[in-house]
Amino acid sequence: MASADPAAPPRILFNYLTHPDDMVEWRRALRLTREVLAQPALDAYRGEEVSPGAQAATDAELDAFVRAQAESAYHPCGTCAMGSPDDPLAVVSPAGEVFGVEALRVADASIMPRITNGNLNAPTIMLAEKLADAVRGRAPLPRPEGPLAEVGAGEGGRQRLGPPARAVAG
Ligand SMILES: Cc1cc2nc3c(=O)[nH]c(=O)nc-3n(C[C@H](O)[C@H](O)[C@H](O)COP(=O)(O)OP(=O)(O)OC[C@H]3O[C@@H](n4cnc5c(N)ncnc54)[C@H](O)[C@@H]3O)c2cc1C
Repeated sequence: MASADPAAPPRILFNYLTHPDDMVEWRRALRLTREVLAQPALDAYRGEEVSPGAQAATDAELDAFVRAQAESAYHPCGTCAMGSPDDPLAVVSPAGEVFGVEALRVADASIMPRITNGNLNAPTIMLAEKLADAVRGRAPLPRPEGPLAEVGAGEGGRQRLGPPARAVAG
């Protein structure tokens, strides 16, 4: 909040690209994209790299491109993450109850403990439905039958780490 005046607009500071991990992730993403597009299956379709361009190869060159061109995709979330009471970063319980305040819950994208890999709208509706059930004392829906999509083992759905499987320029 910018002031004690409830009508005053909030001060929003995203801190984009301020943590060292931000640039590490961006470099990995760019290099992984190049690796994917360098695969033989795409030989017939690939043209010259348009952006950032093959001349951008070093960490510093990739960082300069990211700082100049990166944009938000309108998916800010997780400013008051859910978690256990002993988690110093958790603001609300798994039922959306604000720690230290009685009779106050949060049920929106702000309580997502991690930024989702995909768009926010569907998971926001899902968590709101589940918290509405919790408020009303309804039993959670049963787990669906049948196979579920699985993320990569041990990677938590993140892109894999390590060197490219097939060398690419730069
Ligand atoms: C331009 C844009 C495009 C997007 N495109 C997609 C997309 O294609 N697919 C996708 O999945 N996600 C998309 N998103 C993200 C998605 O829309 C949001 O992440 C999601 O709506 C967040 O839900 P929320 O309930 O947390 O917040 P919101 O949807 O912002 O809901 C907050 C609500 O609180 C109300 N409110 C605010 N202050 C008060 C107050 N004082 N009193 C009462 N009510 C108040 C607001 O009017 C609003 O209705 C997009 C977002 C943007 C900005």
